[in-house]
Amino acid sequence: MTGGGEWKNVICPFHDDSKPSLRVRLDTGGFRCMVCGAHGGDVLAFHQQRYGLSFKQAAQQLGAWRVA
Ligand SMILES: [Zn+2]
Repeated sequence: MTGGGEWKNVICPFHDDSKPSLRVRLDTGGFRCMVCGAHGGDVLAFHQQRYGLSFKQAAQQLGAWRVA
């Protein structure tokens, strides 16, 4: 594995998965599914796609939305 990141294979929530085919990078939260092609760059993108949320909704649910 190059780049120094650690990857884990987990069950993909974006399709009917029977064995872990979603690869998640633990240091950044980046993910990519080898079967259905779902991918994103961080945990916010994951949450957004997992629950069909807008960016703002996902950020609010993860406690990342701060309005000054
Ligand atoms: Zn998938």
